[in-house]
Amino acid sequence: MSHNFIPVNEPLLDGNEEKYLLECIRTGWISSEGAFIKQFEEQFATRIGRKYAIAVSNGSVALDAAVVALGLSEGDEVIMPTFTIISCAAAIVRAGAKPVLVDCDPVTWNMDVSKIEEKITPRTKAIMVVHIFGLPVDMNPVLALAKKHGLKILEDAAEMHGQTYNGKACGSFGDISIFSFYPNKHITTGEGGMIVTDNAELAAKARSLRNLYFKPEQRFVHDELGWNLRMTNLQAALGVAQLERLDEFVERKRKMGHRYTDLLSNTEKIQLPLRSTDYAENIYWVYAIVLKDEVPFDAKDMMEKLSKKQIGSRPFFWPMHEQPVFQKMGLFKNESYPVSENIARRGFYIPSGMALTNNQIDASAIALKEILNESV
Ligand SMILES: *Cc1c(COP(=O)(O)O)cnc(C)c1O
Repeated sequence: MSHNFIPVNEPLLDGNEEKYLLECIRTGWISSEGAFIKQFEEQFATRIGRKYAIAVSNGSVALDAAVVALGLSEGDEVIMPTFTIISCAAAIVRAGAKPVLVDCDPVTWNMDVSKIEEKITPRTKAIMVVHIFGLPVDMNPVLALAKKHGLKILEDAAEMHGQTYNGKACGSFGDISIFSFYPNKHITTGEGGMIVTDNAELAAKARSLRNLYFKPEQRFVHDELGWNLRMTNLQAALGVAQLERLDEFVERKRKMGHRYTDLLSNTEKIQLPLRSTDYAENIYWVYAIVLKDEVPFDAKDMMEKLSKKQIGSRPFFWPMHEQPVFQKMGLFKNESYPVSENIARRGFYIPSGMALTNNQIDASAIALKEILNESV
């Protein structure tokens, strides 16, 4: 069986994307001033069930702005998972606050919520919740802890467009929550992000941070330092077109996930993503796999073998406590989080993009099984 290289991600842009982009070009509205920005913000806020949405240039800066909007700074501690993208910890560190880590659950790969309370100190100000790979964090225990200890919740829903926890939208749980629209997310604007909240003050602060803290009444006089984090009308045009299809996209990803699981579930040597938990059905942001102990090589070797068979793949996140940049800063010294350390070395994901075809899914699964069978 021969085929061209199957990329790990390819977005699907065959709805109104072209039409809305042409509208930007024909009318000349290409900067962050433009009707699609407001439309995207309003429609996104409605979809997530929040009062305010602030579009920004990517998900990482959405985290930066959210941390600063919450007022987290020097001397504050923020509890977060070690198994996540660097953007989460970077935002906390850049604001001068201290990330405090917890390990993840070996089955859902989400933050182990039973490990949070032991990390709470008088300095703890917030919990940064990060929903990983397609299943949400178990929010009820986190919400209860936040209430009991008076902590803020910053929710990273970058991978969770259209996902719910007990029927309530992911992105609606944080005092402030963020999304990303990178091309491997369920909806994309190329680069892009969104901050959502129900709190008028936090929304106003995030808007000011996005736009250099210009004062409405005296434009070039600044009381605070912000950034230019603005999204362009071109990006928002894509966003409006993609949002129209969110339900279809979630459905599509679920079908892909189920197809992979059907093809791979008779393979004992790998751990597959859960189809569902008590509180959610997986939306398979990526189709993630962990090699069991009996496989005599690591994810790195597996990815090389897949590449030789023309199948794209990517490693799991590398834990925050093992990041050279944070070790150089003296952070997380002698800390160990065994579940995250293991899945970082044993985990990888296979082609999962929105444009993936059934044939590509089948070819990827067959190649993976061949490699595992050869490895006995
Ligand atoms: C993608 C992602 C981000 C960062 O978003 P960018 O738009 O790529 O900057 C943040 N958090 C998580 C969990 C992500 O998956």
